[in-house]
Amino acid sequence: MSSALGFDLKRCAAVASASVLLGWVFGDVVLGLALGLAVLLAQQLHGAWLLQRWMQNHEGALPPRRGLFGDIGMHVDRAQRQARKRKKRLTKVAARFRQAASANPDGAIIIDGADRIEWINKAAAHFLGLRQAQDQGQLVVNLVRNPGFSTWLEARNEDEPFELDSPLNSADRLLLRALPYGDFKRMVIVRNITRLHKLEQMRRDFVANVSHELRSPLTVVVGYLEGMGEDEHLPERLHRPVQQMARQTARMTRIVEDLLRLSRIESEPNAAVHSAINMGDLVDSLLRDAQRITAVEQVFEHNVDHAVLLLGDYNEVYSALSNLLFNAVQYTPAGGRIELNWLADGGGARFEVRDSGEGIEAHHLSRLTERFYRVDKARSQSIGGTGLGLAIVKHVLMRHEAHLRISSEIGKGSLFACEFPASRVDCQPMQHDTPLDATRAPESVIDKDAAPTAISFDAPRG
Ligand code: ADP
Repeated sequence: MSSALGFDLKRCAAVASASVLLGWVFGDVVLGLALGLAVLLAQQLHGAWLLQRWMQNHEGALPPRRGLFGDIGMHVDRAQRQARKRKKRLTKVAARFRQAASANPDGAIIIDGADRIEWINKAAAHFLGLRQAQDQGQLVVNLVRNPGFSTWLEARNEDEPFELDSPLNSADRLLLRALPYGDFKRMVIVRNITRLHKLEQMRRDFVANVSHELRSPLTVVVGYLEGMGEDEHLPERLHRPVQQMARQTARMTRIVEDLLRLSRIESEPNAAVHSAINMGDLVDSLLRDAQRITAVEQVFEHNVDHAVLLLGDYNEVYSALSNLLFNAVQYTPAGGRIELNWLADGGGARFEVRDSGEGIEAHHLSRLTERFYRVDKARSQSIGGTGLGLAIVKHVLMRHEAHLRISSEIGKGSLFACEFPASRVDCQPMQHDTPLDATRAPESVIDKDAAPTAISFDAPRG
C-alpha cells in the first residue's frame, strides 16, 4: 500500500471515530457520522481541485501536499520534468544534426509524403537554386523544373539515382538519390558530379577517338594482307603467318567497330525515335540470319505477339537482339533448341532469347555486360567474339528504358530477357492485313561466309 493511501485511510478512520464520538455525546450518532463523511468528502474535493488547478497552471499554483492527490501530483511532476529534459536533449540532437547536414558538401532536402519541402540544407539550396527559408512548404517539382525529375520522384525507386544539369549552371552535373525517411518522408541527396561526369566524358571521347584513329591504318593493313593472301608468288613459308595476321586484323577491326558503336550509343540520350517496330518482321529477319550463320543443326522456334509493337530505334534494337540470338547460336551445341519470344508482359513487353546450350555459372551472370568480360576468353576469341556484345545490348536497352535479365543453368541453357516498360510499347488490335505504321525489316545483309560473330553485325536499316 502506498504511504499516501495509508495516510488517507488513517485520516478517514480518525474523522469517522471523532464524528461517531461527537454524535454519541450529542445524542445523534448517525448525524455525527454524516457530518464526518461530509468533511472527508470536502477534503477530497479540495485535493482534487488543487491538483486540477496545479496541472492547468504550474506557475503560482501549489500541488496538493499530501494524500492520494498529492501523490498523483508528485508523479505527474516527475514525469513532466523528465519529458522536459528529454525534449531539451532531442532539440540539441536535432540542432546538431542540422548543423552537420548544413556543413555537408552534399545537398539534402527533406520532403513530405506529398513532395512538399520540409527542410533544405545550404548545399541543396545552392545546387538547385532554392531558398532555404522561403521555399519550405512548396512542392519540390514546382521549383526544380525538369520533366525527368518529376517522373523520377513519382516512381519512388530508391535504388535508381537521377542525373540532371544544374538549373543554375548547365555545365554542372548533379546526381540525385531519394531515400525513405521517417513516416512517408524522403530525403533527397544532391551531389555535384561534374568532375566525374567530365572524366567519364573524356574516357568516352578517348575510346571513340582511338577507335576512330585505328580504323584507317587497319583498313590499309587489311588491304595489303588481302593482296598478299591472293598473291600466287607468296613464298610457302609466309602462307601461315599471313593467314594469322589476316585473322587478327579482322578481329581488331571487329573490336574497333564495336567500340565505335558502343561510344555512339553511350553518347546519345534516350532513343527518341518513336517509330513502331513490327517485331514479327524483325524476328523473321533475325531468324533468317541466325540460320545462315549457324555451323550446326539447331532447332529454332519463335512465338510473337503481333499486336504488340515496340517503340524505339529499329537499328539499335536489331543490333542488340541479334547479339543475343547469335550468342545463343554460338553457345548451343548441335541438336539444341533456340527460342525467340515477344510477348506482352504486365503493361510492358518482353523479348526472350532462350537456348538449351551449355549455360553460364551463376557467379559470372552479374558481370556479363561489362566490357570485355568473357566466361572463357580463348573460346570467345576462337569464335570471333569481342566481349563487347552484351555491353552493347545493355546500353541499347538502357536507351529504351528497358532492363536485361539473365538466368542460366549449367548444362540446361540460358535465358536472356529484355523487359520493356509500358511507355515503349504500343498494343494494337490484331489486323494482319492492315499495313502497320511500322518500320519493316529489309532483306538481311549478313555475309554468309563471314566468321560467325555475336556482335560484328550491322543491323539492316529499317
Ligand atoms: P562475346 O563476344 O564473347 O560473345 P558477349 O559480351 O556477347 O561477348 O558475351 C560475354 C560472354 O557471355 C561470352 O563470352 C560468353 O561466355 C557468355 N555468353 C553470352 N551469351 C551466352 C549464351 N547464350 N550461353 C552461354 N554463354 C553466353
